[in-house]
Amino acid sequence: MDNGKGAGITSGDVKAQAREFGADLVNISSCEGYEKALPGCKPHDLVKDARSVVVFARRMPFGNATPRPSVGYLEFGYYGHEAWINKLSYRLALWLEDEGHMALPTPAGRDIPSLRILREGAEPEVFMQGSFDLRLAAVNAGMGEIGVNNNLITAEYGSRLRLGAVVTTAALEADPPQKYGVVPDFCVECGYKCIKPCPAGALPGDGAVDHYKCMVMYPQKVSSEKAVDVFKTRYGYPELQLAGRMMAFTENAPHICATCITLCPMDEARRVKEKANGGGGGQPLPVVP
Ligand code: SF4
Ligand code: SF4
Repeated sequence: MDNGKGAGITSGDVKAQAREFGADLVNISSCEGYEKALPGCKPHDLVKDARSVVVFARRMPFGNATPRPSVGYLEFGYYGHEAWINKLSYRLALWLEDEGHMALPTPAGRDIPSLRILREGAEPEVFMQGSFDLRLAAVNAGMGEIGVNNNLITAEYGSRLRLGAVVTTAALEADPPQKYGVVPDFCVECGYKCIKPCPAGALPGDGAVDHYKCMVMYPQKVSSEKAVDVFKTRYGYPELQLAGRMMAFTENAPHICATCITLCPMDEARRVKEKANGGGGGQPLPVVP
């Protein structure tokens, strides 16, 4: 639909607009480097003449990203947060459209193709992905790297952020990717702080995550009664915590665990800044045993 009206917009214009709409980080990738994305989930699968992907992140308040089950995290770090990002994506897409470029906002949350049951039974294996791989886009756009916690890690906010993206026909200057590694050097240096505290034992240490263990259930495939038994026997959760985590037994699972996000020390920049301003550099609360 490019009509020439916005032929002159630059990456700087787009980034400034995204920041005005509420983005804390904005990077841009070309449409190269998406070979690993699933069929149907590449930029050109979503927008035929796509030339750029605008990726942005909104940070979550550090106080809400606790390693304890917390409705505050659910609201300000997860569902509420994703709603804000969707609004941001929507506004940026319309802005690009008004500038003369086709633009497709991608959902911040998991959507229809998200959950695939690869293996049923007592040890089910599931796979989750939205219609667009936001983390791959963020890596391609040089926003950060994927850590052992299976999350994007940025220099500015560690993993305490949520991502959004707009795929567009606008030809924008791309940011160079940072060094990509499945287990980056900083994870080795940190000593794998996220692996042991993961209450589900879902992080094998190679940058992957066991989605089933990380509390994703599919009620049509796995009954909640069975899931309760699985979680009781496998993880031995105290009832209260188990009850909270059973909130996940819906088709589009809310997830109240932020342990692997919170314990990652890669938000050092924030702590240094807080201390410089006379603050305490706030440490996370202890993990629930
Ligand atoms: S969200 Fe919680 S359960 Fe899932 S991988 Fe992270 S620490 Fe483990
Ligand atoms: S806690 Fe440590 S090992 Fe885990 S992702 Fe962060 S830096 Fe890597």
